Amino acid sequence: MNPIKNISLLLLFSSFVCCKSALPVTPADKSDPGGASATAVKSAPEKKANLAPSKPRSLSKKTAAEERDDIYTLMAYAVVHKNWQTKSTSSGGRGHNIGSVLVDPDGKVVSWARNCNGATSNGTQHGEVRLMTQYQSKKKLYNLKSHTIYTSLEPCAMCSGMMVMQNVGRTVYGQTDLGFGKAMERLQYSSAKYKPYPRSENLPSEPAKNGVRVQIDEKFAKYNQEQGGKANITEWLRGSEAEELYRNATAEFLNYQLAFEENRDEYEAALKLYDKVPSSPEE
Ligand SMILES: [Zn+2]
Repeated sequence: MNPIKNISLLLLFSSFVCCKSALPVTPADKSDPGGASATAVKSAPEKKANLAPSKPRSLSKKTAAEERDDIYTLMAYAVVHKNWQTKSTSSGGRGHNIGSVLVDPDGKVVSWARNCNGATSNGTQHGEVRLMTQYQSKKKLYNLKSHTIYTSLEPCAMCSGMMVMQNVGRTVYGQTDLGFGKAMERLQYSSAKYKPYPRSENLPSEPAKNGVRVQIDEKFAKYNQEQGGKANITEWLRGSEAEELYRNATAEFLNYQLAFEENRDEYEAALKLYDKVPSSPEE
């Protein structure tokens, strides 16, 4: 074949491709979401990445650290379920069905606490407040640097404020609180008028990557929708739907199948501490 003719053909073809790709999108293209142009946009990799929903990490793909997160999140539910407060519990009973566990910098669980607003007639007695103040008083620990708190419900503003002031390393929660939650994010909020609250930037507060947390969030979201968006989360947490989820979480905690043998000591220590948690209300 004549090489000059060959090059000419190539140039002609290239200019056709360039012109085609430079053509403006016509209104017909825009109004045709199922057409070829829409398909081309949809298949662009960057668009796909942006549209992908953030899924909770599968339990089967977790790392050893994620497995410990699972165990301690389940333990927080189990601690609460051990003294479950129903709607008929007299005069508020112990308090709300909310509790938490504290894990030290070595990854070992060292303390637990539950909400005792009712038993103490004192609205400051949230699980996280009690967890921090009791442990720090007992151990004479000035702060909780590098510690992790696993709490059954997303922390409120009071607890988040204390976590920030005590330099807690990380917080993992077992249920999203649509009303009182995102307190940490609000403390971290940066605006022209206010800088993020000191120390707040160092405290990640994250939903547990745990199947139970996903189920609880889904069930409460559905209930909240049925209630016209005005559901009371602590009332729901006294109901039979929540009780069943917490009962299942307790069974999962007690029969946990370790994928990482290196977590055996931590898991056994967690079971040992859980055994000491009373099934009666504390004060
Ligand atoms: Zn609180």
